[in-house]
Amino acid sequence: MLSSVPPSLVVKEILPGTLPAAGKLLPYPLPQVPGWGEWIEVAVGIYWLRMPLPFALDHVNLWLLEDGDGWSVVDCGYASAEIKTLWEQHFADLMQGRPLKKVIVTHCHPDHLGLAAWLVQQQGGQVWMTGDEYSRAVEIYNGEAGWLKEDAEAYLHCCDVPDKQVFSATMSHKAYRHGVPLLPDECHTMAHDDCIEVGGRNWRIITGGGHSPQHAALYCDGILISGDQVLPEISSNVSVWPNDPDDDPLALYLASFVALRCLPMETLVLPSHGMAFSGLHRRLDALAAHHHQRLSLLPEACDEPRSVAELLPVLFPQSLDNQQMPFAVGELVAHLNYLRLRGLLKRETSADGRWRYTK
Ligand SMILES: [Zn+2]
Repeated sequence: MLSSVPPSLVVKEILPGTLPAAGKLLPYPLPQVPGWGEWIEVAVGIYWLRMPLPFALDHVNLWLLEDGDGWSVVDCGYASAEIKTLWEQHFADLMQGRPLKKVIVTHCHPDHLGLAAWLVQQQGGQVWMTGDEYSRAVEIYNGEAGWLKEDAEAYLHCCDVPDKQVFSATMSHKAYRHGVPLLPDECHTMAHDDCIEVGGRNWRIITGGGHSPQHAALYCDGILISGDQVLPEISSNVSVWPNDPDDDPLALYLASFVALRCLPMETLVLPSHGMAFSGLHRRLDALAAHHHQRLSLLPEACDEPRSVAELLPVLFPQSLDNQQMPFAVGELVAHLNYLRLRGLLKRETSADGRWRYTK
């Protein structure tokens, strides 16, 4: 299905949480990592590319798939000059000038969607995303209601976070457009359990919420391209954003594991950040345990009424810079909402409009 898109652009960022050493216990069957401008063929016709990111999370993995007389790609990279240069090298070396057919985007975050429109301009192809991811990209890109500076400031006021600059610096639609300067003109939408044919393989789409509205992972013949939904060393950011302060993304995120647990134990997972790994079920167990452990910390910290700002050190004892702060606030509110919506915490709004949480 085609959706028309306004002629404009993009951004937003994934937030690494703090996940302990569980990831280090996973089997990593591919010990090598491709350098910038290099690639590794991880299975017949499936190539691992790695691109630099201008963040603490300093890289994103992209997956180039042989597709008959052309190529398809899963995720595109952030719109930086450095990544464009690396792509141009790959157009000539690995891709041998053969065109792109499908540009499949797991979700709307800039390190994944960023260069989609540019890739289509350069090498052809059709962009494929889930409908909710495409709609979210359009909302943020165009600065629609919920994604404006005043929305962020109102949300931060409720959270009692004093520095209003943190959201305007990171979450504004202007910031999004740094990473996604152009939205694709049109998008083919894909949905859960759809199959997308690439080079004779049928990749099954497995969608899930929590990290983003309707993230798409792809599974075929023992290989899962997991995007940001499952990562080996860090936990994907699960945040409440100013557009929907009563959202329950942690419940959606944990619910997304149900479909992933149906995949074979020995599945090779190709994540967007970090190393390819096996042990998917163990990783899902560790991620669920991680979130439940963090949930357990909050009620005991709420003997007295506490604001979001006062509770931040409970989940994030480390110092946070302006780039990290919005993701930390969003992730904390996601955990608070999860507890509140299940009757395990109460939230009151003080006369000055600030939220206070108690057991
Ligand atoms: Zn992401």
